[in-house]
Amino acid sequence: MDSERSDTATPISPTATIVIVGAGQAGGWAAQTLRNEGFTGRLVLIGDEAHPPHERPPLSKAVLAGEAAPASTWLLKPEAFAALGLEWWLDTRVTRIDRAAKRLEIANGEMLPYDKLILCTGGRARALTVPGVDTAAVHTLRTIGDALALAPALRPGRSIVVIGGGWIGLEVAATARRKGAEVTVLEAQSRLCERTVPPEVSEHLLGLHASHGTRVMLGANIAGIAPGTGGRSVVKLADGSTLACHAIVAGVGLVPNDELAWEAGLECDGGVVVDAGCRTSDPDIFAAGDVAVTPNPWAGRRLRLESWQNAQEQGIAAARAALGLAVDYQPLPWFWSDQYGMNLQIHGIPLPSHRVVARGTPGADSFVLFYLDGDVVKATLGSNAARDLRFARRHIEQCKPVDASRLADPNVPMSRQ
Ligand SMILES: Cc1cc2nc3c(=O)[nH]c(=O)nc-3n(C[C@H](O)[C@H](O)[C@H](O)COP(=O)(O)OP(=O)(O)OC[C@H]3O[C@@H](n4cnc5c(N)ncnc54)[C@H](O)[C@@H]3O)c2cc1C
Repeated sequence: MDSERSDTATPISPTATIVIVGAGQAGGWAAQTLRNEGFTGRLVLIGDEAHPPHERPPLSKAVLAGEAAPASTWLLKPEAFAALGLEWWLDTRVTRIDRAAKRLEIANGEMLPYDKLILCTGGRARALTVPGVDTAAVHTLRTIGDALALAPALRPGRSIVVIGGGWIGLEVAATARRKGAEVTVLEAQSRLCERTVPPEVSEHLLGLHASHGTRVMLGANIAGIAPGTGGRSVVKLADGSTLACHAIVAGVGLVPNDELAWEAGLECDGGVVVDAGCRTSDPDIFAAGDVAVTPNPWAGRRLRLESWQNAQEQGIAAARAALGLAVDYQPLPWFWSDQYGMNLQIHGIPLPSHRVVARGTPGADSFVLFYLDGDVVKATLGSNAARDLRFARRHIEQCKPVDASRLADPNVPMSRQ
């Protein structure tokens, strides 16, 4: 992707039509931003769910636990949403982008013209494909409906098998244990969250789950699923062993919803490719959130971020870009996860080539790991250490050289590093 792409922006007419496809977190922020920036033209927000724009993190935590209502996830109170003065087409699916005519085809056959289009179509939970998968109700967790369907299974006397030891799988496991269910996590790789955290953090997660009574089986390959007795299903493993359970949850990753873009001939590469101006290979089409593949200087390559921070910030950036405002979206990635009272946060991208400096003991309740390139902090990862991490984030952003021995000393405040 060439960086000149963002230089072709022209201010948009106040009578233009901007359409946002995808009424999730990124779409919701894009809509608010367009109005906040003074766009007075026609604004259409199309989403194939029945809910207003909302945040998904509580769906594996408080909403799944029955401790928060689905409506608590909405980005805006109903009156603030109504005040945006937009057309919200709920339960509506866009089926095609006609770039030549600059219009969208809707599932009911209607055609909708646009001047600027923002794709915020997110992703969907990857389906489990093993023999016998149709013989059991295999849950996935992406939507409010998914959380409400799974929640009743999380209670004492029920056994849950979670397939996949990534973030969603581990958060479901933590919530299920908290609600009293028996939980087994099956992970095909040799460690938890292998794709996103270094080995020392996988170890920490393993210890955390074991200490709460979750059974974690690593290197576990699923051979199939079969009906069992007493309302149970049976998960068959490749080594011949079996596990009977009341519910199966597959947390095996996300498939980006990039088909619309791909079929319209936009550049895609595991998601919709955009530049730092959130612009796709069509200057009138922008993309943001889980569906967007963005150049990231912190990673040294382009990547697709699946995080709350990115959905919000890139949704805002894409809206500004659609209005012709200057945008240079190159975020320091930030992700968090909450499991059993542990708040884990990752800033930046820890790489195997980085030197690790620990502040506190990995595995303890609270610690921070710094990932250094020479004497510059490139990434941090911490458990229950939000304050230290806020300071550390500044170090990363400022590329400020640090003294590793002082960083490692919890008696030297982060503000004095
Ligand atoms: C259970 C769960 C827990 C999470 N926890 C955390 C966390 O703790 N920390 C963190 O940083 N991140 C977390 N995340 C990630 C974060 O929630 C996502 O990155 C964020 O929701 C992405 O927002 P989005 O708007 O890009 O996509 P989405 O929220 O997926 O919104 C996309 C919307 O577009 C709709 N759509 C798709 N195609 C079409 C079409 N053709 N026509 C109409 N509508 C369409 C989709 O149905 C969907 O409603 C979690 C995610 C999940 C699922």
